[in-house]
Amino acid sequence: MARYRDAACRQCRREGIKLFLKGARCFTEKCAIERRNYPPGQHGLNRGKLTPFGVQLREKQKAKRIYGVLEQQFRKYFAWAEGEKGVTGENLLKFLERRLDNVVFRLGFAASRREGRQMVAHGHFQVNGRKVTIPSYLVKVGEMVQLRPTSKLQERVVENLNAGRGQVPPWLEVVPDEKRGVVRGQPLREDIQIPVQEQLIVELFSK
Ligand code: SF4
Repeated sequence: MARYRDAACRQCRREGIKLFLKGARCFTEKCAIERRNYPPGQHGLNRGKLTPFGVQLREKQKAKRIYGVLEQQFRKYFAWAEGEKGVTGENLLKFLERRLDNVVFRLGFAASRREGRQMVAHGHFQVNGRKVTIPSYLVKVGEMVQLRPTSKLQERVVENLNAGRGQVPPWLEVVPDEKRGVVRGQPLREDIQIPVQEQLIVELFSK
């Protein structure tokens, strides 16, 4: 299971916005965007204006980084999105949104998608009563995502739920006392609050 292993804050600095990859730290003055809001690297301060291609490329990179997905997998989601009815860009975001690591984050069990990914990969969650260790697992309507009763992360999850940094979107329902959530429907575009213009990604892949 490949994943990006370089510094998380570097990705935010490259995109010039907070991608909220590190949970609590992102809300403090230690955030790298607060301290050094310019691209990383020797020539970070001297980067010129972006070309139209550059703008599209950055939009794709931003989406990949927000969801913690690498290029190959992202292209797979795009191919699936093209094969679905409806608007390709929106379909793409809906696939990304249905990833189990994202759902664990959206339900408030994890402070970030990265933490959600780790929790899932380490076997702390079950879907419909069965342990699932695949962060890219796509949840379906009616499925129940729950912290496993034997998990050692009970306190950590309660801590994250109490911090309540994000609103649970309407397509999910959370029962905090039982540390479980239910998928009530398909995510809609207006429920996906991320700073990405998906149309630019479609244009990039349509070249
Ligand atoms: Fe991004 Fe969070 Fe790092 Fe700030 S602290 S740069 S929002 S990952």
